[in-house]
Amino acid sequence: MSRKFDVIVIGAGPAGYVAAIRATQHGLETACIDSWKNLDGSTAFGGTCLNAGCIPSKALLESSELYHRAAIEFSNHGIGVGELSLDLHQMQLRKAKIVGQLSSGIEALFQANKVTGLFGRGRLLPDNKVEYTPHEGEPELMEAGHVILATGSVPVELSAAPFDGEHIVDSWGALEFDAVPKRLGVIGGGVIGLELGSVWRRLGAEVTILEAMDRFLSVADAQIAKEAQRQFKKQGLDIRLGAMVREAEYSDAGVILKYDDEQGGHEVTVDRVVVAVGRRPQTDNCMDPLAGVDIDERGFIRVDDECRTTASNVWAVGDVVRGPMLAHKGSEEGLMVADLIAGEVAEVNYPVIPCVIYTAPEIAWVGRNEEELKAAGVNYKVGTFNFAASGRAKAMDQDAGMVKFLADKDTDRILGVHIVGPLAGELIGEAVLAMEFQASTEDFQRTIHGHPTLTEAVHEAALSVDRRAIHAINR
Ligand code: NAD
Repeated sequence: MSRKFDVIVIGAGPAGYVAAIRATQHGLETACIDSWKNLDGSTAFGGTCLNAGCIPSKALLESSELYHRAAIEFSNHGIGVGELSLDLHQMQLRKAKIVGQLSSGIEALFQANKVTGLFGRGRLLPDNKVEYTPHEGEPELMEAGHVILATGSVPVELSAAPFDGEHIVDSWGALEFDAVPKRLGVIGGGVIGLELGSVWRRLGAEVTILEAMDRFLSVADAQIAKEAQRQFKKQGLDIRLGAMVREAEYSDAGVILKYDDEQGGHEVTVDRVVVAVGRRPQTDNCMDPLAGVDIDERGFIRVDDECRTTASNVWAVGDVVRGPMLAHKGSEEGLMVADLIAGEVAEVNYPVIPCVIYTAPEIAWVGRNEEELKAAGVNYKVGTFNFAASGRAKAMDQDAGMVKFLADKDTDRILGVHIVGPLAGELIGEAVLAMEFQASTEDFQRTIHGHPTLTEAVHEAALSVDRRAIHAINR
């Protein structure tokens, strides 16, 4: 007899494991299957985000930031540390410990919530059946009332510079270096390229980022992107725009990256290369073609606004479906789907998803940027505030950057908030909440912000929308 569940989730990343836990909170009998294997062959829940993405990269970002500050900024505070040294092995051990703690935390949550967590491959078959193949053992047929596909995404490989696992690596490989490369090449100046480029630059590598687009960080508000680019340049990141990589050639001197830009052909020789040119949805081998789940022209599982696929009672959430590839977007979709399966009303507010880039300074935004508002013909007003005028930012020695507030000129509703500066990823939270509650700029202006905090900079940017900032000259 095959095992029967109310819900089977395939994939235990932030979209899948969250869906599974919420489903059991509704009293639904739920299994969650995950095929993840670490580099040492061990199994783990948490997917790319926890095991090879967000969490380990943030651990290294924090360590590299501390190292950089100790080297560059401590003396300004009157702190001497003698001769500074770097123990990368210890840094990597600390990172691995954090990842291990959080991954076993998911196992504990599964146990506490009575989710049946299973390591191995899950494959959707027709009629809501799932074939579960443990890493070691025979395939087992299971049945489910509902199946949630949450199989995530994988790095895009570049034919001009294929991964070799040693000299040319993906984002996971770049988190596992056992020595700081002297010269690091990064192909792709997007989110991953900038975050990883920052880590290794701060630990001493000469970092060259080759980005195909002419505009730096084109997903961000142009003014914010320009300020961020200025900061990164000051930190010594060599960002080359309009650079299309043509070939990677191995030589005794290192890997020669050959690229073209408007001026013609160029090359740069590096010791290691990180390819970060995007990720693609992972749908290989996770469903039978007869299961009835449509894939769109870009390889994403086709879903409606509520994450229903084209197969009855089969849902898909996270990176494997349209929308930004962000862990928190996937988690919200997981919660929504579990709630819908349980018969509740639920939705994801897609226009109000925050984006955060964990460089130093951080970049974060929510809502629409100025270019999008212009293109849509919206009558908008703008307020800005520089962290240079924030007492707290100055005390922290992190006063680079700014906050930009965009609001509807006619209704005063907040349309977007964009930040480059210290803890931007934390600061954006109050803007997300304000937008979720459909606040006006005046609501925000009349909200009391603690002094001295970085949140005052967001408050001042809101005041500046109506030329009422106190600690800046209103123009
Ligand atoms: P991305 O889409 O953010 O950036 C890829 C960049 O590579 C683009 O700017 C593109 O123009 C460039 N590119 C493409 N082909 C190129 C070529 N041949 N030569 C030079 N440049 C080239 O992708 P990513 O940085 O790989 O990240 C993948 C996904 O993961 C994204 O959706 C991202 O949002 C998500 N992610 C998010 C976070 C976060 O929220 N902090 C962190 C990591 C990843």
